Order: sequence, then structure tokens, then C-alpha cells
Amino acid sequence: MQQKPPHLIIMVDRMFNTDIEIPDKMKALPLDHRGYPIPKFAHIDSEGKPHFDICADDIHVRLVIPGMCFICGQPLGRHRFFIGGPISAKSHYFNDGPSHRECAIFSLKACPFLANRNFTHMTENTKKHIPKKINTAVSTERPPATALIECRYYRVTSVSGNIVIEAGEYEGIEWFCDGELVANPQ
Ligand SMILES: [Zn+2]
Repeated sequence: MQQKPPHLIIMVDRMFNTDIEIPDKMKALPLDHRGYPIPKFAHIDSEGKPHFDICADDIHVRLVIPGMCFICGQPLGRHRFFIGGPISAKSHYFNDGPSHRECAIFSLKACPFLANRNFTHMTENTKKHIPKKINTAVSTERPPATALIECRYYRVTSVSGNIVIEAGEYEGIEWFCDGELVANPQ
């Protein structure tokens, strides 16, 4: 059985913030070995291990198109929130699906991949578990800040052969860095 490199375990476990209260909508999610709720979008590999930095193959059919929260899997209301870097914020194209505000805020504060910009987004270990090709429309570099964007409408489309989610008109945008609200970095 393949083992995770020790440095990856140490980095992820140290950076997972267990002090953040899990929102009610996420309390039904199964927990991983650290007690972190496993988001609905996470890829589960052939050994049953969840990968928080890889989206499952069927996210668009299972979550995005039916209007379910990308993180907790429950129905979205009329307020949908996208998480993305400056490039996504400008283009309206997102790799991750929409979520509830409280689920998105929890992820921004607790998830090492979103909350810490110094984290190496795609490790060699996680690349081995990717079921299909990497979406080349999405940068693997961590942005200086991450946007939380509210919009009412979105659609699934493709750009350069990659499936992406196109957000409609923005109703609000906030920026986060290391899990904290910051000024617009532009
Ligand atoms: Zn949710």
C-alpha cells in the first residue's frame, strides 16, 4: 500500500485549523482522521482516502447542475458563493462549484489549500491520485488573495476543452488571505 510522504502529513495536519466551528450544514458530512469534514466535491481514491485538493469526476452532474452546495451537498438558496483567485474573479470562470456562504467561509478559514497561500497546491503525491487530466484552465499557483463572490446565476460551460463554471453578474465580492478578510488586492 502506498504511503503518503511524511512531509505531506505533517504539513496538512499542522495547517488544518481545528479551532473553526463546523457550520450546521456541514455537520452531516463524514470526518477524516483529523476530524475535518470531508467535502462533497472531494475525490475518493481506490483505497477510500479522500483528497481535498482534487475534485471528483462527477461534481458537475452530482452537485453543480442540480444546484447543490459544492461543500455540504445540500440545496443552495438564491444566494450562491464562489471561491476563486483573482483570475477567476476577473474572468467569471471557476473550477469549483458554488456553495453556501457559511460553508465557503468555513473552507476559507479551515482548509489549508484555500486558507494558506504558501501551501503547495498540487503535490507530487496528489498528482498520482488524479483520475483524469488536470484542468489546465486553473492555475496551480496560489494567488495573493482568494475571492468570495456572491452571484445568483451560473452555468456549466467549457473553455479550451476544460469544463468550467461561469458565474453570472456578481452581487458581492470579498477577499480573504490566510483565512482573514482583507482589502481588495487589485
Ligand atoms: Zn453548504
